[in-house]
Amino acid sequence: MENVRVRFAPSPTGFFHIGNAKTALYNWLIARHCGGTFILRLEDTDVERSKEEYAEVLFDCLTWLGLDWDEGPAFKHIPEKGDYGPYRQSQRMHLYRREAQRLLDEGKAYKCFCTKEELDAERERAAAEKRPPRYSGVCKKLTPDQIHAKGNAPYVIRFRVPDGVTVIDDIIQGTVRTENKEFDDFVIIKPNGDPIFHLAVVVDDGLMKITHVVRGDDHLTNTTRHVMLFEALGYQAPQFAHMPLVHDEKGQKYSKRMHGANVLDWRNDGYLPETLINYLALLGWTPEDGTELLTRDDLVKKFSLDRAGASASRFDLKKVQWLNGQHIRMLGVEDLRDRLIPRLQAAGLDTTAKSTEWLTRMTAICQEKIKTLNEIVTYTDFFFSEPAEYEEKAVRKHWMAPDALKCMDEALDAMEQVPEWTAAALRAAYETLVERTGNSLGHYVHPTRLALTGKSVGPGLFELAELLGKETSLARMRRAIEFIGRACAPLGTTPEGQS
Ligand code: GLU
Repeated sequence: MENVRVRFAPSPTGFFHIGNAKTALYNWLIARHCGGTFILRLEDTDVERSKEEYAEVLFDCLTWLGLDWDEGPAFKHIPEKGDYGPYRQSQRMHLYRREAQRLLDEGKAYKCFCTKEELDAERERAAAEKRPPRYSGVCKKLTPDQIHAKGNAPYVIRFRVPDGVTVIDDIIQGTVRTENKEFDDFVIIKPNGDPIFHLAVVVDDGLMKITHVVRGDDHLTNTTRHVMLFEALGYQAPQFAHMPLVHDEKGQKYSKRMHGANVLDWRNDGYLPETLINYLALLGWTPEDGTELLTRDDLVKKFSLDRAGASASRFDLKKVQWLNGQHIRMLGVEDLRDRLIPRLQAAGLDTTAKSTEWLTRMTAICQEKIKTLNEIVTYTDFFFSEPAEYEEKAVRKHWMAPDALKCMDEALDAMEQVPEWTAAALRAAYETLVERTGNSLGHYVHPTRLALTGKSVGPGLFELAELLGKETSLARMRRAIEFIGRACAPLGTTPEGQS
């Protein structure tokens, strides 16, 4: 494919929906795969609903996902780019009016002076006669003199739907044929001179020389009108590809109210943009070799619309979580560290007292464990402050056994003996202990972990102890031993009536 020009044309009227992110991604991948151009165009003609803050969110989300655009409107420090601007519809009104005038001049559109009351009455008559509501076309027959006589009366411009059949050869949906007579002459310019969506989108796609329109299949029913307008305006029509919408886990349309419908929910929950684009790409497309774990480069290399399917794609949270874990493992440790620090700080953990080197080591011992960036907080909070409490279930399991105190004393003793405070030396000391006593490694590891972290899961014990430092580790062991003596009198020795 040569000189591919694709566009993402969101309306800044709400948060950035996950389905929109998929549309943006597919267009971006097509452009990057074949060295084409990815255009960002803001469809902000709905003045009531379009808000600059939504446009900002949109830019931020695209930037976070790494979907950079080659042409598009100005945003913060990024100036407007491209030779086909402006890229905000609100700045292109003169073009829509010019093109509508051209259609009028060529007899492909006409002014309609029908009032709202007349149109309502027409619709009611149609309903009473059980006919589909259709514009009767009264104004189509007005002579130039009759039009002149209307003076300053308000009017809309209607497109004169031609006879015949319109065929869409959709890359994903196949061939869609529609009899033009199914449509009445639709409005393209409102009484205030503003364009209707159908005109604006076609003028933009035509003048911006878009080669492929890839969007949600909720737009498929609009496309017949668009194809008619492309022909009437004499533009080269693009190829169309209408993608299935994203469905939730139950197979329903991913409603706006659901957690996760907003792209920012994923960012807030600690998912990587790498994961999201990997997962969204798979919602409706599979690479030839069936691989599921794909980096941005893999996607760019492998993506093609030929392998995109028409059936709706269900969201599978388990799979996203799995993918996120995999992408976390693939990051460079420094990169991961820099993404984790803000999460720790947001949770109120003071990372500033730790050296960069220490934070890198902490990251390294968690990289294989966490599935989201946010999980780092529960995995490492004990490094930043003494555990405020011990996990109750783990206390019952590991510290209430009759020999719990003995076990902890032995562990503390082994720790005190290590020649140097490293994970390897600690492991060796515990292994010697295990050999000597005949107990399992777990017999010592779990109670020790509880003492050092307050929890039953976390990074590898010896690695975390090394990072925690000798003094703190030993102090926490002694504190735990006191706690056990005080609060965990071994089962069977608890005095009657107490628990
Ligand atoms: N602004 C439209 C939307 O957000 C997109 C129209 C198009 O892609 O043609 O649904």
